[in-house]
Amino acid sequence: MEKNIQMVDLMGQYSKIKNEIDKSVISTIESGRFVNGPIVSEFSKNLSKFLNVKYVIPCANGTDALQIAFMALGLKAGDEIICPSWTYIATAEAAAILGIKTVFCDVDKSTFNATANLIEPLINNKTKAIVPVHLYGQSCEMNDIISLAKRYNLKVIEDNAQAIGCRYKTSENEYKYTGTIGDIGTTSFYPSKNLGCYGDGGAIFTNNDHLAEKIKMISNHGEKKRYHHEIVGCNSRLDSVQAEILNIKLKYLNQYNLNRKEMANNYNLVFSKVDEIEIPKLISSSDHVYHQYTLKVRNGKRDDLKLFLDNLGIPTMIYYPIPIHRQKPYYNGQNLKNTDLLAEEVISLPIHTEIDNSNQNYIIDKVLSFYK
Ligand SMILES: *Cc1c(COP(=O)(O)O)cnc(C)c1O
Repeated sequence: MEKNIQMVDLMGQYSKIKNEIDKSVISTIESGRFVNGPIVSEFSKNLSKFLNVKYVIPCANGTDALQIAFMALGLKAGDEIICPSWTYIATAEAAAILGIKTVFCDVDKSTFNATANLIEPLINNKTKAIVPVHLYGQSCEMNDIISLAKRYNLKVIEDNAQAIGCRYKTSENEYKYTGTIGDIGTTSFYPSKNLGCYGDGGAIFTNNDHLAEKIKMISNHGEKKRYHHEIVGCNSRLDSVQAEILNIKLKYLNQYNLNRKEMANNYNLVFSKVDEIEIPKLISSSDHVYHQYTLKVRNGKRDDLKLFLDNLGIPTMIYYPIPIHRQKPYYNGQNLKNTDLLAEEVISLPIHTEIDNSNQNYIIDKVLSFYK
């Protein structure tokens, strides 16, 4: 009885939409419009309608999206941003490339996200922006972060690569999608993300007309009119085949996120009863789209649990084994208590859009048997 369990089941998902995808990909190729073109605009319109945001500007990947956002806000060498160290490297890397200094904040040890209280002490007169990351699929407490940013006159760029489709309740009791709350939101369509294409892709969101115009120019070599380059830009485009795949998968995004949530609820029900495990903490103002299902393992047993599951054919991942403030190019002597502890305690279990109860029960049984 060989089980074939993966962290994400992209092929299982593809097999269910194969006809639709294959037909559209072929007709996109036959259209001869490979980059940008009408299909990319159509996807951008569909996503902006879905997210209820005025502009969605597609680009080549989520790292570029962040870099373009920083450029559009006029951030430059010597400026500072504050972002969590507990995130994927791209958040800090996009700033570093522009010579912007990243000051790392700690995160809440139960939600894994940065909070206004942890950010505020790091603000100084060089700080220009806050970059909250909605890690693993749950929103940061954005009401607090937005009001902090207003008090200090800072910009807010949401790194929404892991939380597309997550809704957050604002202080006006309105529901907004993450990535549309701050000045600019960014996302990635990397295949394993909640809305993933079959290659690289990304996008930038804003409700601000002026910023949208700059973002469009920057992502296309700083030009407004063909061959008239008004500012320094870069080359960051989404290709038509990826846009067509995203157009199809966007229709299923809510259902995919619900399936992830169902799997997470199944895990939570059982693991909440295990003393040595802490399940992900939810905040009442946010939904959770479970890009990752991440547990905390107490008493130094994380690595043993990982090895135990590996040997049974159950893949797990550590997001992230080394926080950014401990990575060589970014090491700045900071000690971030919660972040350093999380690097020792977290483990992410497989979570899919295609639920397979027998595989999930197998995973649950084996985790429980580790504790018997
Ligand atoms: C995936 C990811 C990115 C980068 O996206 P790419 O498309 O891989 O460049 C940025 N930030 C976070 C939090 C991510 O998870």
